[in-house]
Amino acid sequence: MITRNDCLARDALDPMAPLRVLFDLPDGVIYLDGNSLGARPASALARAQHVIGEQWGKDLIRSWNTAGWFDLPRRLGDRIAPLIGARAAEVVVTDTTSLNLFKALAAAVHLQRPSGRRVIVTERENFPTDIYMAQGLSRWLDDGYTVKLVDSPEQLPAAIDADTAVVMLTHVNYRSGRLHDMAALTAHAHAHGALAVWDLAHSAGALDIDLTGANADFAVGCTYKYLNGGPGAPAFIWVPQRHQAHFTHPLTGWWGHAAPFAMAPHFAPVDGIGRALCGTQPIVSLALVECGLEIFEQSSMAAIRSKSLALTDLFIALVEQRCAAHPLALATPRDHAQRGSHVSFGHPHGYAVMQALIARGVIGDYREPALMRFGFTPLYTSYAEVWDAVEILRDILDHETYDAAAARGAVT
Ligand SMILES: *Cc1c(COP(=O)(O)O)cnc(C)c1O
Repeated sequence: MITRNDCLARDALDPMAPLRVLFDLPDGVIYLDGNSLGARPASALARAQHVIGEQWGKDLIRSWNTAGWFDLPRRLGDRIAPLIGARAAEVVVTDTTSLNLFKALAAAVHLQRPSGRRVIVTERENFPTDIYMAQGLSRWLDDGYTVKLVDSPEQLPAAIDADTAVVMLTHVNYRSGRLHDMAALTAHAHAHGALAVWDLAHSAGALDIDLTGANADFAVGCTYKYLNGGPGAPAFIWVPQRHQAHFTHPLTGWWGHAAPFAMAPHFAPVDGIGRALCGTQPIVSLALVECGLEIFEQSSMAAIRSKSLALTDLFIALVEQRCAAHPLALATPRDHAQRGSHVSFGHPHGYAVMQALIARGVIGDYREPALMRFGFTPLYTSYAEVWDAVEILRDILDHETYDAAAARGAVT
């Protein structure tokens, strides 16, 4: 049996434990939802004050040049690059994940035009916005493009064939936490003449990713999840050097222009990753992304991944030891090679149990159908918190102190 003291002992030896103070978390909260909205870096408040008070307030429009606002999407992209196995000048932070996916898919489909391939392959279990964006693009193209929804990860390889233009996958599934083998699936897609577009929303900042080593074609991801950029912070898009010269998409706004202030009446894309940009960015929100990224420079993705697996292993073991009498069904793979950084358990009253947990300060979330989701963020989650969270879960289940008829908010 694992005891709370065992967990405290692990915290005492944890090289990442001192980084916790770099985040502001309220007292009395065990935050297990950093996979959905990362915690606030302590530095973000002063940074926001500086951007609003000094840069906007005093320097006004001059800040586009003097505070580096115009270059911010590229500068932040270069900070994300080492976290995802990208090179400098291959990533920009801009727009939303949904929009960036649209650009990446449009570029991939365009590259495949000469091949006559018109099928985008993805998973039925993919995050819905990814499916919707692919469906929106294929409807818009209107000349026989379709989106093929594959029912299970096991069926993916066989679903990729001579008609497949693009394989669009999310690295870690948002519900189950299942992790795909990016290198193997990309190689399989390439072997069948397809391109591979990866969504890193639930993996960037949680595990070591090697886009270059996997030879992926395009990638997108969120900054407001494990990268702690703030609610609705702009997303990122990766276009490797080998695809930059022929990267074209329909959202050709002036920020992707070679000379935006020439105010020319015709679009001419800038060389390099800048052509993934569209229009003016939300600078206040964008500036705060840097606060989260600075913290990653104090650790390494290998160390973060290793603590992430230790935290999720511990959580699964404790739930199975202490809540064994209850109908909890693990939806997350036990195999490390197939696990992201969140763990999901099904329970017939999953929504109500999660509401009871949140009322007692253990903040996870709920995803249909009946799944309670617990995200583990190595930079600020301790082993003792995992123990305490499971103890509260056990108490709620043992005493049935949840309201099975709890009303639902707009966001679950
Ligand atoms: C969180 C998430 C998104 C969010 O997209 P937005 O455009 O930022 O709303 C998209 N895809 C996946 C896989 C996600 O996990």
